[in-house]
Amino acid sequence: MPATAGPEIERLIQLLARLPGLGPRSARRAALHLIKKREQLMSPLTSALETALAKIVICRVCGNIDTQDPCTICTDPRRDPSVIVVVADVADLWALERAGAINARYHVLGGTLSPLDGIGPQDLTIDAVVTRAHEPAVREIILALNATVDGQTTAHYITDLLHNAKVSVTRLAHGVPVGGELDYLDEGTLSAAIRQRTPF
Ligand code: ZN
Repeated sequence: MPATAGPEIERLIQLLARLPGLGPRSARRAALHLIKKREQLMSPLTSALETALAKIVICRVCGNIDTQDPCTICTDPRRDPSVIVVVADVADLWALERAGAINARYHVLGGTLSPLDGIGPQDLTIDAVVTRAHEPAVREIILALNATVDGQTTAHYITDLLHNAKVSVTRLAHGVPVGGELDYLDEGTLSAAIRQRTPF
């Protein structure tokens, strides 16, 4: 396709198109919006990006992304220090925090085990979570991993490594989503929901 704008604008569009959820067409729309709102949006966005870039660090305790190390969650005295929620990715941590699901601390693995993609235990922060599980304050490890083959393989692998830590190892329930209709669920989800039924 021939360029319809100068190289600087084309470059902006190309970079925006690399963002998740933005294809080439919406990247053009986003670029045009930024250009039209130079003062109100583009300029503050530029300085927010620069500030974030300069300050972002990975928490050495839990692997969370923040602008301080240890992160805001790890240093928050109101968090229950006895529970560690293990997630694959920072996006999962953010999702749980958005839901206000639990007032605990986290551990970000940096992915899940995936033999097909060549991701082994050494590529994840599994050793660190095992070490943390042996800290005297820790009583429970919640494995909040995806209900996929890789997620569950990772959960089993970690559970095996934790057999002599004095913690209870739990995982997220599998089953009917809140507001879900049984008729629309796949067989695997329905079977899991029946197997993991809870007293009413
Ligand atoms: Zn942290």
